[in-house]
Amino acid sequence: MTDLEDTGPATVRFAPSPTGRIHIGNARTALFNWLYARQHRGEFILRFDDTDVARSKTEFADAILEDLTWLGLTPDTVAWQSKRFAAYDTAAEQLKAAGLLYACYETAEELERRRKLRLARRLPPVYGREALKLGDDERAALEAEGRKPHWRFLLPNFADDPFDTRRTEMRWDDVVRGPQTVDLASMSDPVLIREDGSYLYTLPSVVDDIEMGVTHIIRGDDHVTNTGAQIALFKALGSPAPAFGHHNLLTTASGEGLSKRSNALSIGMLREEGYEPMAINSLAVLIGTSESVTAMPSLDALLAQFNARSASRSAARFDPAELTTLNRSLVHELAYEDVSERLAMLGIEGDRAAAFWLAVRRNIDFVKDAAGWWRIVNDGPGSGETLEDDDLSFVREAFSLLPPEPWDGDTWMQWTGAVKSATGRKGRGLFMPLRIALTGLRQGPELADLMPLIGREGTLARRP
Ligand code: GLU
Repeated sequence: MTDLEDTGPATVRFAPSPTGRIHIGNARTALFNWLYARQHRGEFILRFDDTDVARSKTEFADAILEDLTWLGLTPDTVAWQSKRFAAYDTAAEQLKAAGLLYACYETAEELERRRKLRLARRLPPVYGREALKLGDDERAALEAEGRKPHWRFLLPNFADDPFDTRRTEMRWDDVVRGPQTVDLASMSDPVLIREDGSYLYTLPSVVDDIEMGVTHIIRGDDHVTNTGAQIALFKALGSPAPAFGHHNLLTTASGEGLSKRSNALSIGMLREEGYEPMAINSLAVLIGTSESVTAMPSLDALLAQFNARSASRSAARFDPAELTTLNRSLVHELAYEDVSERLAMLGIEGDRAAAFWLAVRRNIDFVKDAAGWWRIVNDGPGSGETLEDDDLSFVREAFSLLPPEPWDGDTWMQWTGAVKSATGRKGRGLFMPLRIALTGLRQGPELADLMPLIGREGTLARRP
């Protein structure tokens, strides 16, 4: 990490809307926050941004918490925006009283017409604050027509006259991107409250960040522009702004943005497909950074590797094949104790289970792939490769030379030594037909490891 100067404990939050399952890009945001909190002895809050009551679902919130816990990112606190409307109402009233939240009545079509007009006049296509000019009677007339107001936050991008905006730079030292500048005169006053009275994300987020003592807002770089307006909103509510960090986003392999609506890359789906949480965590953090993407065996190891500043500026493509490569290298090193429960669920248990795991783990991509080898060890090759005619008599002769039990790790050497002397075959011509006879495959775990697992009786049953 680069910011070694100790700024005290950090309080961070991961703030998904529970409108779908989280995907690997959301996991990146959660991880950047979680790792940052761990680096700064801080607190990790999970905040459900569920002010959109119609689209937010409890089952998605439950699933998000479950996915985070499975990844190892257990939150210290869980908060719900839907339980905090009173706090947002108070803040909205405070802003209205200060003249910083004003009622607007334009329809979407009116706004679009004006936008086009401004573009034609070579003016920036921002909202021209026309609603600020309305007198009380004009407002009353619009409301009598049945119009309901939406409410905009008056950005502090002017000296005395809100119609004479001037360049107003909001600057912050982004914990990911370094120094950033956003000009408040280049954006429209943001709508904080819709005409049906519901809150957009901006105000509730700032109110919560103040009340929850959030010290660092770490999120995707699609929020960089929002940050300018949000810093102004913190100030308008009488609070200093926290630090901000914006990481680059992940896209699909073909370059499209990830969406909670597409289930394909959801954490839940990747988990069902058998990926290890640390394969997902490693890729979600290290992709799109200057660090090399390698499989970290634990969150502590990933923490040692994590440097928020190493994220690059451009979006990073998420390639499922890369995830499989990481998974494979993790599975190859997993100890039996790490997987015994999962193996038992696949029916792999008993005296031979630990030795079996050590024999096969370097030949599989997913823990669940062990089941195929367990079937081969117990039930034989099934419909695999068949032996060439001229190998058939060789294998039959070899089977008549099988050593007596007990069998151990040396049995293979003893057997092939005897077969070599008797037949004169050696190398590939010797072991490949035996491998095919025993496993039905041309590749796989060491036969020296498999033979004691299969046993003499099991081996003889494979005699062609
Ligand atoms: N709910 C917002 C989102 O998912 C949170 C953004 C933020 O972290 O402030 O985009």
